Amino acid sequence: MGYSMPDYVLAIDIGGTRTRTALIDSNGRIAARASILTRPERGVDDSVERISAAVRQVWGKVPRRLIGGLGVGTPGAVDAQRGVILIAPNLTGWADVPLREQLQRALGLPTEVGNDANLAALAEHRFGAGIGARHMIYITISTGIGGGIIVDGRLLLGAQGFAGEIGHCTIDVDGPRCKCGNVGCLETLASGPALARAAQAALAAGEPSVMVALAGGRPEAISGETIAAAARSGDRLALQIIDQAGVYIGAGMVNLMHLFNPELFVLGGGVSNMGEPLFSAIRRTIEERALAMIRHGMRIVPAALGDDAGLLGAAALILQAREDHHG
Ligand SMILES: [Zn+2]
Repeated sequence: MGYSMPDYVLAIDIGGTRTRTALIDSNGRIAARASILTRPERGVDDSVERISAAVRQVWGKVPRRLIGGLGVGTPGAVDAQRGVILIAPNLTGWADVPLREQLQRALGLPTEVGNDANLAALAEHRFGAGIGARHMIYITISTGIGGGIIVDGRLLLGAQGFAGEIGHCTIDVDGPRCKCGNVGCLETLASGPALARAAQAALAAGEPSVMVALAGGRPEAISGETIAAAARSGDRLALQIIDQAGVYIGAGMVNLMHLFNPELFVLGGGVSNMGEPLFSAIRRTIEERALAMIRHGMRIVPAALGDDAGLLGAAALILQAREDHHG
C-alpha cells in the first residue's frame, strides 16, 4: 500500500542488426527513442558502451527518481534469473554474457533481461492484442519461431527461463534437421526460410509460379515476402505452401491448446502477415484436430504492436517485476 507505479521505464530491444532503446511511460507510451547498429562482431563491451550511450540519450531530462528500471530484450537463450545471455545465434560471438551486470554497472539502474519473444508476449498481453486475457499464447513466426505463454496473467518462465520455445516443438518426428539438433521442429517447417526452401524445391521439380519472376529470375532469392506477394496475386504454388505452413502451425497450436487451454492466441512476425490464406489453414487444422471442448470460444488474433513489441515488452518486464516486489 502507498506504493505508486514508476512514471517511466527505460527499454532496450537488442537485435542482430539494430538495437533500439526507448523511454516508456507506465501506460506504454513511448516518450523518446533511439536506434543504433548492434555490431555484435565488435564484441560485447563495445556494444554495451554504445547501447548505454543511446539509453542516456533517450533518458534525457527525466529525473532518476521517476525511472523504475531498465528492461532488456535479447534474441537467443537467456537465463532470466541471472540476466545472462547464454547463446544467441544472431549475436555472433556472444556467449555467457552477463548483460544485466554490465548494463547495471554502466547505467546504475535496476535491470531485468528477457528473451525477445517472451517479452513480445508480455507486451501484447499488457498493451496490445491480449489485454484482459488471463490465458494467452503468443507466437511469432518470421526467420525463426518463438513465443511466450501467459498463464493466469503471468509469463511462464519455467525452471530456467526457457519456457515458450514453441519453434522447437517436434511436429514431424521424421522431419528436416533443425539448427537446435532435433528434427522436424516447427521452425524447420513453417518459418520464413522453411517456406522459401519449400518453394525452391517445388520450382526445382518444375512447378510453375510467378515467384521466379518476383525474385528477379533467381529462385535462391525467394523469401517469405516473395511467397506472400505471389499468394496475393493468386499464385497456386504460393497458396499451397502457405496452406501447408498453416497446417504445421495449427498442429503446433493444437498441442499447446491441449497443454494450456488458452482463451487466446496472438500471432505476430512476418509470416503471420500472410493473412487469410494462413489463418484459414490454421483454423481448419484446429477444427479438425483439437478437442471440441478445448477449442470452444478460443480466439486467434494478429499481434497489435508491430515492431515496438520488443521495446514495450522490455518495459512490461520492469513493470511486472515492480508489481511483484510491491505486491
Ligand atoms: Zn529445433
